[in-house]
Amino acid sequence: MIASAVQPITTRPAGPITPPAEVMAPAAYWLRDEEHTWAPTPYRLEGDRLTWGPLWRFRGFAVAPRVYLHELRRLDLSDGAQLLDFCNQFGALGIQPDADTSMHLDEIRNAAALLRTLTSIYHLHVTGQFSTESIQEWEWDAEWVAPSVDAITGHEFFTNEMNRLLDAATPMVGFGNHQQRPNTLLDVLAIQLFNDIAAGVTYKTCASETCRELFVNQINRKVTRNSRNNGTRYCSPRCARAQGQRNYRLRTNDHRSGAELGK
Ligand SMILES: [Zn+2]
Repeated sequence: MIASAVQPITTRPAGPITPPAEVMAPAAYWLRDEEHTWAPTPYRLEGDRLTWGPLWRFRGFAVAPRVYLHELRRLDLSDGAQLLDFCNQFGALGIQPDADTSMHLDEIRNAAALLRTLTSIYHLHVTGQFSTESIQEWEWDAEWVAPSVDAITGHEFFTNEMNRLLDAATPMVGFGNHQQRPNTLLDVLAIQLFNDIAAGVTYKTCASETCRELFVNQINRKVTRNSRNNGTRYCSPRCARAQGQRNYRLRTNDHRSGAELGK
């Protein structure tokens, strides 16, 4: 049997592009009595909707590196409180800055699932695991991503959706009232994924048996010159601690049952 050659992923430009420093999202503001300054109100949950009304203006959110990989993939999309926390920290995902005063949580779920699926396809491709079987085994957020993705359609889905999201990063000019589309969180997270693809980044899989998520650098940890190549097996100190406790319990249980057998 002839092994089919894996097509390399190519990008244009060949290297990373600079993502915008902040993303725009809709927000309501309230007047702080003491200081007479306007402060944005946090998003709220009303049933299945994220609300911020009445609309006052856009709000900018600074975006941390690799949010598309580290924070986004660890969200439980069925948990509205987690989605609310994420939007209050990074901006309303999948929601246009000029949107009305509330949005159904499914808009956020669909945008998150799309980025997570694109990341999974990239990971399976660069690790040579891209096959119908691996796709069926992977957790696909299938509930939220409308098209069913298999080995035949996966690459086409990947290029179509990535290029659609990267449209916001295309250079453009205009006259007069021409408005450049504001940077949304979805656009910027797609640029983060693009930059990792352009740099040929490969992911590690967290060794915690309850996590198994993809990561590059450990989350919530300052990267120092010494820790650069430390061969970290866990995505976060939290996962390392949790697995350490599980291993410890396992060892002490083994020891105890061994002692009882010896009686
Ligand atoms: Zn982990």
